[in-house]
Amino acid sequence: MASQTRKIVQESLDALLEDAAFLPELDGVSRKQAFTSLGAILSTPNHLHKSFLRIALENGSVVRIPAFRVQHNNALGPYKGGIRFHETVNEDEVINLASLMTLKNALHDVPYGGGKGGIVLDPRSFSVKELHLICKKYVQYFSDILGPDKDIPAPDMGSGEREMDWMMAEYKSIRPGQPYKGSFTGKSVINGGSLGRREATGKGVYFSFRYLLHDFLKEQRKFLTNNENVFAKTALEYDGSPLTIAVQGFGNVGSVAALEAYQCQHLQNKVVAVSDRNVTLYNSDGLDIPSLVKFVALNGGDLPTTENQLEDAQIKATIRDRGDILYFDVDVLILAALEDQIHDTNKEKVKARIIVEGANAPVTSEADEYLSSKGVIIIPDILANAGGVIVSYFEWMQGRETQFYTEEQVFNLLLEKMKNTMNTILPAFFGDPHPLRQNCYIHSVMKLSTVLYRQGKLY
Ligand code: GLU
Repeated sequence: MASQTRKIVQESLDALLEDAAFLPELDGVSRKQAFTSLGAILSTPNHLHKSFLRIALENGSVVRIPAFRVQHNNALGPYKGGIRFHETVNEDEVINLASLMTLKNALHDVPYGGGKGGIVLDPRSFSVKELHLICKKYVQYFSDILGPDKDIPAPDMGSGEREMDWMMAEYKSIRPGQPYKGSFTGKSVINGGSLGRREATGKGVYFSFRYLLHDFLKEQRKFLTNNENVFAKTALEYDGSPLTIAVQGFGNVGSVAALEAYQCQHLQNKVVAVSDRNVTLYNSDGLDIPSLVKFVALNGGDLPTTENQLEDAQIKATIRDRGDILYFDVDVLILAALEDQIHDTNKEKVKARIIVEGANAPVTSEADEYLSSKGVIIIPDILANAGGVIVSYFEWMQGRETQFYTEEQVFNLLLEKMKNTMNTILPAFFGDPHPLRQNCYIHSVMKLSTVLYRQGKLY
């Protein structure tokens, strides 16, 4: 996975170098030299911090848990990115996820650099007390490099507001008297979190394809019709008629995106399939998403897996294998689970014409190349799933201003920001032959290179 991001960054640099007129000339530095430095800067993180958290478990044994914080780049502001709690976390993955954060923040004009953390554990196999201790230890080990103007962690897979509250409290007691509200984002509202932060990523994911297939298409139909571009042809297949949607993953991102689609009733879109780690549920007439959300909330986060459970909850659906979710004949497939879901060996079975990356890196580069060559539009992670970090930024600002935005204000600001990004990227995308991912990377790299060049960092 790490090589995938590096490869696309390199290709974006190459594409940009052909016409680097946007870079001002500096004495004695050729654009080629500048781009060589940029390649080196973006392919390696500024800092890689790792440690083993020594934890005494409740049963009396002691474990040492590997933990990371990667600070990829801070040209645009403090390092920013979540802390992943998962048993498969590894150094290479965290480096890649940190570099995606640099590109994501640059793309959406969020004044942050990119960072990411990781703790190698399955949170389900630790008690609450042990998890609390793990969070405190993480902050103790890394407190010197963290801070509201240095590096600001947030939740990621396996972590949430509970962990951020614990971590902020630990940070506060290690640095008494210093600003601490902005040291972590994704906190609970009562502890200085923002309204709407939990729903932000899912809302943004839904907005990304709704905006493309409805609002943008309506306004730009003529521009697209005059275009030979293969992706413009795909977009024009959609004439405003209702969309069928499948959603992989029913956690914070997938369930919110599915609910948004369900609730946007005037568009009559239908979520026909959803899945989680156990099961896929399918109904060609559309699933009752609010009832599923309710079921999940009452049943430890899992979707119904038996006929009895479906019947008791009065939900009409057929039960399918969890892997089936990827291959339905739907218009839109939202990937909101793990990375590497569509890859070299299953790419040919995918029928959706629009794929939305709610998770980070769920489509491998081989699969991306293949699907793009068939005109499939993939809305990449750094564009589609930025809602979380965008609202993190609003949370951080509210902490500084000691102001509190209403939920409506937060969502309006979020959608405005995503709309601005999409209006910047989409005309270029439909005007040239590069997939959307590469268009986004080119935009981010262009911004980063201009800033770094002007800061004198590229020579
Ligand atoms: N973990 C989220 C992401 O991958 C949010 C990061 C943040 O809010 O800083 O974008």
